[in-house]
Amino acid sequence: MEIHVELKTVSKMFCGCKNDPFGADKPNIYTCPVCLGLPGALPVPNRKAVEWAVLLGLALNCEIPLFSKFDRKNYFYPDLPKGYQISQYDQPFAVRGFLDITVGNEKKRIGITRVHLEEDTGKLMHATVDDPTSPSGLRGASKKVSLIDFNRSGVPLVEIVTEADIRSSEEARIFLKKLHQIIRYLEISDADMEKGSMRLEPNISVQKIQSRLNRDKIQKLPPYKVEVKNINSFSFAKKAIDFETDRHIAILETGKYPQQETRGWDEKKGVTFSQRSKEEAQDYRYFPEPDIPPIRWSKSQISNFKALIPELPDTRIARFIKEYGLSEYDATVLTEDKKTADYFEKAVKSKTIPAKTVANWIINKKADISKLSPEGLVNLIQAKTQKLPMSEKDLEEVINKVLAVNSKAVVDYKAGKESAIMFLLGQVMRQSHGRADATTTRKILENKLK
Ligand code: ZN
Ligand code: MN
Repeated sequence: MEIHVELKTVSKMFCGCKNDPFGADKPNIYTCPVCLGLPGALPVPNRKAVEWAVLLGLALNCEIPLFSKFDRKNYFYPDLPKGYQISQYDQPFAVRGFLDITVGNEKKRIGITRVHLEEDTGKLMHATVDDPTSPSGLRGASKKVSLIDFNRSGVPLVEIVTEADIRSSEEARIFLKKLHQIIRYLEISDADMEKGSMRLEPNISVQKIQSRLNRDKIQKLPPYKVEVKNINSFSFAKKAIDFETDRHIAILETGKYPQQETRGWDEKKGVTFSQRSKEEAQDYRYFPEPDIPPIRWSKSQISNFKALIPELPDTRIARFIKEYGLSEYDATVLTEDKKTADYFEKAVKSKTIPAKTVANWIINKKADISKLSPEGLVNLIQAKTQKLPMSEKDLEEVINKVLAVNSKAVVDYKAGKESAIMFLLGQVMRQSHGRADATTTRKILENKLK
């Protein structure tokens, strides 16, 4: 799996332009000579972006090499004005990590090959516009054009590449959701799938299961793979993988191998389509970026980064179970996003309401927590669950009712059977759902039965 994530730094990767491509009112307003790729413009790396790439690497249990550098990845496309993308080739910021996921009841480790930093491209829009150059007789003539918006050009982009450890579309979905959750916990990206600030690229190949016991131990990968580009939802990624798996099996069963190629995902038709075959595969002619010095870390810098990593979901789930006595289910739901988990912890801090009750209110959406502060929620729960004493009028009403329907007990008491009053008292307590005060009730009963 390859995943691209746009970092939410204030400025772009190699210039001071605003990094807000989705918030821009107009195209091409956040641009400068650097992100427009004008000759002579010099890139300066964004410190925050570099630190966040390292932070993500550490959160994914990677090693952080003490030396790393940027490289140029050369290719020609209109959304890339320099003719190359500044990326990282052989010495990325983070390598050899892993992420543990739970599939059914089993724990499974997915290897992380690398985490590197690069820049996003501009955005192409294909449109039809009026053609002012058409002969005068043809009014309203139109032509097809490609428009470019460079607001996104040079936005910091982190790329995460996994080992070939994922065995099914469901494992892919679970892995991606967990990665998404961690990125959100680190608060380094909105990872908004719909806007395209997190983009998924599964690389798929199929081979026969050698034996059930060894289903995870692959000796050698199949001699081909198909990459599906730029998928923008977890469920589309799952569907694209399932579609490809079926397509490969059909080809493999004829004794041939599927073509190694890059494909796109058509979400309307629910199919993949060929974009580029292996024959057209590009040689990117990577070479070190001469305008940016390599980056060298000291060991103490790396340990300082480690201290910046917040408590991640797995650790937090375990702590919620232990500290608040929650079930694994409740702890998992509450920690799905950091905001909800923080909210829960603030609410239980007051200790006036049991943690389990607070959890129940949040999970079952008994209150709209987006409109309530944690203290507000605590007050609301208190008001709704606390037993307020009954007014005298209400109590008297309940007592009269009890006396009316228990005439036998009334007669018994008046005949000298003292214990009958206890029965009537019990009835009042029950009718008032425990809100009646026993001493007051007894007094009133004695008066009424005189
Ligand atoms: Zn710029
Ligand atoms: Mn990339």
